[in-house]
Amino acid sequence: MKAVCVYCGSSDGARPLYAEAARAFGRALVKADLALVYGGGKVGLMGVIADEVMAAGGRAIGVIPELLVNKEVGHTGLTELHVVPDMHQRKKMMADLSDAFVAMPGGAGTLEELFEVFTWAQLGYHQKPVAVLNTDGFYDPLVALLRHTVDEGFMQQKYFDILQIDANPDVLIGKLQRYRAPATDKWAQNRAAV
Ligand code: AMP
Repeated sequence: MKAVCVYCGSSDGARPLYAEAARAFGRALVKADLALVYGGGKVGLMGVIADEVMAAGGRAIGVIPELLVNKEVGHTGLTELHVVPDMHQRKKMMADLSDAFVAMPGGAGTLEELFEVFTWAQLGYHQKPVAVLNTDGFYDPLVALLRHTVDEGFMQQKYFDILQIDANPDVLIGKLQRYRAPATDKWAQNRAAV
């Protein structure tokens, strides 16, 4: 594993512990010799983690769409900043450059990015781990909802198990490194059920 894509809020969150968690995760990536791939902005937790990775001597690669260069303030102090035409190309490039995906606390944008790579793992489009950094239990309500989708027969347990969950950056990185993708027979299963 060489690079980890981190999805995170374009806001700082209501409490300082979120920025502290972003810094701690940035340091953990550098310690594990992993490059950061992220949305390329300077705002919110995005900017916090990128600054920390650069300050710790690591590699931070940003991918930002033209429209957002001003809005999210394209970070000029990165190892690489790629400006791409649109959101779809941003997500594709971030995914192509990365060996794992981690969502930190964030809003609708972060959740959208998380669910795209989670559903693509489920369909077998990639075999890379998908994770949430569960800072102060931020993702507990989402994990509970996902368990509910399993209990109610809308998701197989093995697909739920794709999602790696931990509040501790080092432990989470260990889980990413040990991850093995499940066999994806989602459509075969569905056909058998028809
Ligand atoms: P948020 O979690 O809403 O603060 O957004 C975090 C990041 O997700 C920001 O860089 C947004 O530009 C990005 N984002 C917002 N909406 C989308 C979307 N539909 N697809 C991909 N990225 C998005």
